[in-house]
Amino acid sequence: MASRLPLRPPWGWAWCPAPLCPPGCPPSRGLCGAHLPAALLRTRPFVGGQWMPADQALTFDLAQARATFPVLSPGTGAHLARVSDCGAAEARAAVTAAWQARPAWHRASAQERSRLLRRWFDLMIQNKDDLAKIITAENGKPLKEAHGEVLYAAQFLEWFSEEARRIYGDIISTPAQNRRNLVLKQPVGVAAIITPWNFPSAMITRKVGAALAAGCTVVVKPAEDTPLSALALAELASQAGIPAGVFNVIPCSRPKAKEVGEALCTHPLVAKISFTGSTATGKILLRYAADSVKKVSMELGGLAPFIVFDSADVDQAVAGALAAKFRNSGQTCVCPNHFLVQKGIHDAFVGKLSGAMKAQLRVGSGFDEATTQGPLINEKAVEKVEKHVRDALSKGATLVTGGKRHESGGNFYEPTVLSDVSTDMLCSREETFGPLAPVIKFDTEEEALAIANAADVGLAGYFYSQDPAQIWRVAEQLEVGMVGVNEGLLSAVECPFGGVKQSGLGREGSKYGLDEYLEVKYVCYGGL
Ligand code: NAP
Repeated sequence: MASRLPLRPPWGWAWCPAPLCPPGCPPSRGLCGAHLPAALLRTRPFVGGQWMPADQALTFDLAQARATFPVLSPGTGAHLARVSDCGAAEARAAVTAAWQARPAWHRASAQERSRLLRRWFDLMIQNKDDLAKIITAENGKPLKEAHGEVLYAAQFLEWFSEEARRIYGDIISTPAQNRRNLVLKQPVGVAAIITPWNFPSAMITRKVGAALAAGCTVVVKPAEDTPLSALALAELASQAGIPAGVFNVIPCSRPKAKEVGEALCTHPLVAKISFTGSTATGKILLRYAADSVKKVSMELGGLAPFIVFDSADVDQAVAGALAAKFRNSGQTCVCPNHFLVQKGIHDAFVGKLSGAMKAQLRVGSGFDEATTQGPLINEKAVEKVEKHVRDALSKGATLVTGGKRHESGGNFYEPTVLSDVSTDMLCSREETFGPLAPVIKFDTEEEALAIANAADVGLAGYFYSQDPAQIWRVAEQLEVGMVGVNEGLLSAVECPFGGVKQSGLGREGSKYGLDEYLEVKYVCYGGL
């Protein structure tokens, strides 16, 4: 029997009274591992269709804890589970399993791959409530948003189950009578997939749906903060009948991420790296890929501008700003990083935005129905928001609302608006990734475009205008991969997701997403 830690939780709540509950679970707020849906709660690596042995999940025996790492609730600090801490050896074993599964999966008919992806989608929908609870528990986002993510994530499996049957080659008109020229599309091979914590489910299915539809096999390394969603997906993949070795998941702690990333991304049997995360990590993985010339997809950081022109409908712009900025407490790569507002509409926009935030945003536990703003993912994330606010205020910005940690404590931060922001402040130059809306006042369209396009990244951009000529001009000139025109929410499985400049390489979702996992092979059939 594992011994319990004799400590009281540092955040001051009493032990949870549930018999299986580990120390530190606050009874009144959120969930602990014992309360998470047991049917989908998995804590070991999923490799070659098996849950690998080696950890003592859900125990709190210090002696056993070395091979595992804790998953913490970002809202309460409660231990949700202990998950196996994989290293290079597990990464290599997973690549071997994916390599061995590759020929049969490649040879399976498109209909068969489609059918299995569809079954996986159906199981996600059947289990959507449990999957959403796991996301809220480990990521902190409100349950309603977590439900939205599960549906969005499942839709990638549905979409790619359909696209699997629409992979076409070509026949090219022949330059010589005795030859025929054909183009085949073939799977790239084993894909190493590294994903972040902000969409613990959707960032996986957006890649894996396309990879499996194309006939590739995969090894997924989820983020340290959110491995439980990835492992729950593995359980459902197994139930769906996805063959052993086609989908492998190896969780690891942050200190092991480098070792595991290197083992995966330099492995000679890995042909493709697909990564979503920060630009800094993306550059490390690109260097690994260069050594053995692997195919890469990179979905990296952004610095999305949200431009409001004088011609905009201010209420529409405020509604769009709320939806775009504060989803997932500002922790999405397409969240507006700064607001550029033309001088004629500036004061009305700032007043209405801060009014709407006070009226509509509620900070609290993701499990409370009224909550719209959960906690940030960890202490480091809160410190970054604090640093950006401090820097802006020290350089002359004005605090309109918020500006400090929320009274709930922990990783909760108040939704914040700053005005009188300038382009030299950190919040204009770096991704804040939190609930901070800095507003820069501008005079002309040229000035707004110059500020927006000065960034060395370009993922999403938004603007509000009722002037059709301006809409075309600005949509064409913004240097980003995705533009929201009078619209704050732009992601859809049918549409291409990705960035330009240092925001990445390639596109995910849509009909274009499949190409990232396919090679074009030219066949010259002669002697006819
Ligand atoms: P991150 O630090 O780059 O982490 C992303 C993933 O990479 C995690 O699984 C992380 O593991 C892993 N990782 C970190 N260092 C590694 C290394 N040396 N080798 C291999 N793997 C490594 O990013 P984050 O800060 O968690 O995520 C937020 C960033 O992702 C933001 O910049 C955001 O804009 C971007 N993002 C982009 C998109 C998009 O589609 N473009 C979507 C979502 C997020 P650990 O968790 O263990 O550190």
